[in-house]
Amino acid sequence: MIKILALFFLFCTNFPLHSALTVSDDAPVVIVDVGHGGTDLGARARPPYCEEKRICLQTARLVKKHLNQLGYRVVMTRDTDAFVSLARRVEIAGQASGDLFVSIHYNSTRNPTAQGIEVFFYDNRDDRTRSNASRKLADVVLSRVIRRTSAVSRGVKKGNFYVIREATMPAILVEGGFISNPEERSQLRTREYQEKIARGIVDGVDLFFKKRIK
Ligand SMILES: [Zn+2]
Repeated sequence: MIKILALFFLFCTNFPLHSALTVSDDAPVVIVDVGHGGTDLGARARPPYCEEKRICLQTARLVKKHLNQLGYRVVMTRDTDAFVSLARRVEIAGQASGDLFVSIHYNSTRNPTAQGIEVFFYDNRDDRTRSNASRKLADVVLSRVIRRTSAVSRGVKKGNFYVIREATMPAILVEGGFISNPEERSQLRTREYQEKIARGIVDGVDLFFKKRIK
């Protein structure tokens, strides 16, 4: 009986500790760069009104939550509706000794039928190691996001965006869909769909680290 009580006590006291979100100090650091913010609204569409900066932040918070649950440390370049310069975003990533950099954006174009998800990486001839790792990360993140969302894949592309060019760790920029497309926009406004995008990004990041360790 004492044994059972002791076990019960152990279970009650230890179990919550183990299941709590304790992220170890040596866990990889993922930089989640949240597109736009403050006076920089990003892409807009109306009606109904939808700002890129807002959905970027909503997605990023979900990404952070799920990465933390898997034991990763996460640093967001903004967690409020604030303007953060591109240089500052890269600086934050460096100061936090980020292992990976994932920038979250949504797309917009004049053609209302354009749709789907694309992921960019910066192809730097002078730094093949970082470029190759960035491409691998882009591949795995795109395939996982498509698996979760069933959205149209626009592929992995080379891009010369400031943050992925200047970051010093493997870096990608995710364009999670078109807010200029009425159907995609109405999906993007739902928590359910954003959750799918966020989980896809997290699946990809997790797989990237696991493949690397092998
Ligand atoms: Zn953007």
